[in-house]
Amino acid sequence: MSFTEIEAPSLSLEQDKAVSEHSIPLGVEFVEPRTGFYCKLCGLFYTNEDTAKTTHCRSTVHYRNLQKYLSQLAENGLSSVLTEPSVAH
Ligand SMILES: [Zn+2]
Repeated sequence: MSFTEIEAPSLSLEQDKAVSEHSIPLGVEFVEPRTGFYCKLCGLFYTNEDTAKTTHCRSTVHYRNLQKYLSQLAENGLSSVLTEPSVAH
């Protein structure tokens, strides 16, 4: 049964042929390096540091989300401080 052993490498050679047929790289936009700048507040991902930290952090969307986050943080902090002693009693 040496036939099956020969078939396997020939298959991979065909695959290599199919890949090398295109000299121009296609669908490059689907290749994403998983490095960038992610805003946890807005759930937005930026590849450029300047765009993320300067342009995005000045945008109204980010400002609103930041205000919402800070108000929620303050509410949660206040409520936990207020309820904790009463629960302990
Ligand atoms: Zn943001």
